[in-house]
Amino acid sequence: MRLATLTAALCAISLLAATGSALGDRGKKARRHAQKNDAGPDPAPTAMVVDLHVDVPWQVHWKGRAPTLPEGDARLSALQAGGVGGLVFPIYLPDKAHEDGAHLDDAEATYATIQAIVAASPVFLPLGSTRAEAGRITSFLSIEGAGAFAADPPAIDRFIARGVRLISPAHAKNTAFSASATGEPVGFGLTALGKAFCARIYDHGALVDVSHVSDAAFADIAAIARAHGAPVVATHSNARALARHPRNLTDDQLRVIGETGGVAGLNFHSPFVTTSGKATIDDVVKQALHMVKVAGVDHVALGSDFDGGIRAAAGLEDASRYPRLSEALVRHGMSAGDVTKIFATNALRVLGWAPAKAP
Ligand SMILES: [Zn+2]
Repeated sequence: MRLATLTAALCAISLLAATGSALGDRGKKARRHAQKNDAGPDPAPTAMVVDLHVDVPWQVHWKGRAPTLPEGDARLSALQAGGVGGLVFPIYLPDKAHEDGAHLDDAEATYATIQAIVAASPVFLPLGSTRAEAGRITSFLSIEGAGAFAADPPAIDRFIARGVRLISPAHAKNTAFSASATGEPVGFGLTALGKAFCARIYDHGALVDVSHVSDAAFADIAAIARAHGAPVVATHSNARALARHPRNLTDDQLRVIGETGGVAGLNFHSPFVTTSGKATIDDVVKQALHMVKVAGVDHVALGSDFDGGIRAAAGLEDASRYPRLSEALVRHGMSAGDVTKIFATNALRVLGWAPAKAP
């Protein structure tokens, strides 16, 4: 399996990074610092980062940012400073793209934009790359808000063939496939068309992203995922127990994610982190610890939502700040090995998922 090979390689780099042996000298500096200051805190792990949701393509395709990524939460220099080794670029199809919503042409055009972003900077490995390299970034693809595919559901096949790994059947509004978590009304789940679409996604080796769907749609998707032996994945959602928002996951949903081998990606957007005002990095840690307690440490990942117009938790303002989160997790008692799971290996496991039988 090409992806399995890539996952193994990235995991190897990630584990090296966690012990400060790869990806620059940050880890070595931390160790030297610790040796000089024996009474000081333990050195922070410099876990390699794989982020399941970074909205850079939206910024470039719809908001005019240069494909060289000179600015923003996930500007190239910040990605490099933060130790990013892999990220998922969503092909985001805005509900407001046109009067009648987004079109399939928008998906094609945004895919071309991602190709341009990856081609513009040598730090990105070529799209669909099967190797991993320390200091470079592997890009994965998702589709956020796939409602436009209702016009031609089999068109999803060619996007999966291009490497799209995660597909959400709705974004902020209800679609012909699914109710959205923030849609009106929200009392329904997947439509018949949506159930067939989600089964098709799993049959072709990709995964459904539950991050933006209604609770009823989550239940419908979980049933289809279980029937396919597939993990349930929420790329960028937190725990509703700590921040009551329909975009977040109930503890029961977090348990389903754990049971199916899936992941929930920690989102840094303040209203999804806490309901008590502006979130801090410690609030993100509380989310992480709760999600680990409920879903299991193998089932929490990063899904920052950087460049998605977020109001980031204080201390996590941009992609250079990921090491601060790993430091904070260790400060709250998490082992370096568990940080590495949350920062990279859990995400890589689901990105490398393949169905037991070829379609
Ligand atoms: Zn989103």
